[in-house]
Amino acid sequence: MPKIYVVGLGPGGLEEMTPRAVDALMKCSYIIGYTAYIDLIMDAFPGKRFITTGMKREVERCALALKKAEEGFITGLVSGGDSGIYGMAGLMLEVVSREKSGVSVEIIPGITAASAAAAVLGAPLMHDFAVISLSDCLTPWDAILKRIRSAASSDFVVCFYNPRSRSRTMHIAAAREELLKHRANSTPVGIVRNAGREGEAFVITDLERMLDFDMDMFSTVVVGNSRTIVLNGRMVTPRGYEICGGEWADEDSGDRRDHRCAADH
Ligand code: SAH
Repeated sequence: MPKIYVVGLGPGGLEEMTPRAVDALMKCSYIIGYTAYIDLIMDAFPGKRFITTGMKREVERCALALKKAEEGFITGLVSGGDSGIYGMAGLMLEVVSREKSGVSVEIIPGITAASAAAAVLGAPLMHDFAVISLSDCLTPWDAILKRIRSAASSDFVVCFYNPRSRSRTMHIAAAREELLKHRANSTPVGIVRNAGREGEAFVITDLERMLDFDMDMFSTVVVGNSRTIVLNGRMVTPRGYEICGGEWADEDSGDRRDHRCAADH
């Protein structure tokens, strides 16, 4: 049966792909994706036909995947990280719906940059967090700013994707300003470049100094909440187990009592 697999490749190296993602690509005759992602996986899937397109060709890639599937081929469409997080999955479903096609689409999740970056930094996402892309190519900056303000004022840990590009340097500075309205200068910030792939590098700094460090479109920035700490060089947001000072403030203790975990009962 012709079919489209939309596959999240994980953050980079082959070892970051799930076995389910590998299995799906094994079944495909065609594998379609952005040139840089196809380059990463090509050697591991000999005998496949690869189609690559450049940046900003997302709609074209989906149309090609649909065309190949409608010709009767099992087709893989690949995204970095998770295909459903700023990836190709949603667009593929939109294109299939627009074309009123009966082709089936299976979405295979992958490790997203937030998880990969968090693992490099320690465990900063142990509590509620928000993921915000600073790219205003498809989203108006006002809408992005509104979400940053909400996340900042609600004490979410915040992961920024697409933090800075050559032409877009001010957004991360504006985001930092918003966060500083609600968080201390000393709030831990982790910047991870190329998580899980060649060239991996990271720094743990704080809100005050974060702009002194390089970040680009291969980086994810994780800003801690008011409880995030650095332990032995690792960034940790305590869940509240009262081991390293992550306990909730008094006004929140009712919340804690009401939500005892199953093991307590
Ligand atoms: N679908 C992808 C995200 C695409 S948006 C996912 O789920 O991870 C592209 C942004 O993701 C980049 O600008 C960067 O902020 C982040 N990113 C992707 N791969 C990364 C990696 N290996 N290391 C650090 N950040 C990464």
